[in-house]
Amino acid sequence: MELTVVGSVAIDNVQTPLEKRENILGGSATFASYAASFFTPVQMVGVVGEDWLPEHTKIFQEHNIDTEGIEIEKGGKTFRWSGKYLDNMNDRETLDTQLNVLGNFKPKLPESYCRTKYLFLGNGAPSTGLKAIDQVRDVELIVADTMDLWINIAREELDKLISRINGLVLNDSEAKQLTGEINTLTAGRKLLDRGLKFVVVKKGEHGAIFLSRDGLYVVPAFPTEKVIDPTGAGDSFAGAMFGYIVSQNGKLDEKTIKNALVYGTLIASFCVEGFSLESLQKVDIAAIESRLSQFRKVASF
Ligand code: AMP
Repeated sequence: MELTVVGSVAIDNVQTPLEKRENILGGSATFASYAASFFTPVQMVGVVGEDWLPEHTKIFQEHNIDTEGIEIEKGGKTFRWSGKYLDNMNDRETLDTQLNVLGNFKPKLPESYCRTKYLFLGNGAPSTGLKAIDQVRDVELIVADTMDLWINIAREELDKLISRINGLVLNDSEAKQLTGEINTLTAGRKLLDRGLKFVVVKKGEHGAIFLSRDGLYVVPAFPTEKVIDPTGAGDSFAGAMFGYIVSQNGKLDEKTIKNALVYGTLIASFCVEGFSLESLQKVDIAAIESRLSQFRKVASF
C-alpha cells in the first residue's frame, strides 16, 4: 500500500559545533519519504528548481519512492534553508530561508496519487497541506507534522488543516503554544477534542508521547553518542512511524502503534548520525532489526 508524502524539498546549509556542510539535500518531504520507504512504497510530492540534480531524484527512486510528483519549476531555484546548531546539539537557529519555488508551491498530485488511502503532510505551509487534501478522493488516514512558524504566522489556516486531518505530530513546546496549556498531556487531550484520532508529541532527545482516546504510550529516544546532524530527525520519526502504520494497512491497535513509535524512533536515531540522508542511506533492514534488539534491552522492564 502506498503512502503519499507532500512537503518541502530543500538544499540545506548546516552548521554544527564541529562541522559545516553546504548544499546538502534536505526538506521535510525528503526525510519523511526516505524514512517511510523503509516500510512501504512512497509517492513523493514537492517542487524544486532548475538547480535540482538528477542524482538527488535517483536517491529517492532507488529507495522505493515514486518521484512523478516532484515538479521541476522552469527558471526557478530550489528552496534553501540554512541552520546552525548550538553546543547542546538540540537547539538550533535558522540563519537564512530562501523560499524560491516553495513560496508559490501549489501541490499537483498526479492522477494515480489522487486515489491514495494514506497522506502525510510534512512540515510546510498549512495552505499547501489543504490544497493536497482537496485532491485526494479515497483517503482514509491523513497525518500532518507542523512547526512553531505556522502557529505564529498562519494560525487560521493551521486550525483549518487540523480540522481536516486525523493525526498530528508536533513538538512539546508547539503543543503547548497551540493550546495555551502548560502540561503536555492536557495539551494533547485538548488537541484530541478537535476531532483528531491521535496526537504524537515529540520531546526531542527525550522521546515521544502518543495520545488517542483509547491509549497513551510513551517511547524513549534511542540513546546514541554519535549525533552528527539532528536535521530531519523529526520528519524521519514521523515518516517512519506513519510508513509502518501504512504497512499494517492503517491499523491503529495497540501493537501497531507501539511498533510504529519504536520504528520511528530507530529511524530518527540513524538520521542524526550523519548529515542529510547520508546515514540513512547506509541503513538496511538488518541494521534496523539489530538496533531494535538493542532498544528492547534498554527500554523493557
Ligand atoms: P526537522 O529537523 O525535522 O525539523 O527538519 C528540517 C528540514 O526542514 C530541513 O531539511 C529544512 O530544509 C526543512 N525546513 C526548514 N524550514 C522549513 C519551512 N519553513 N518550510 C518547510 N521546510 C522547512
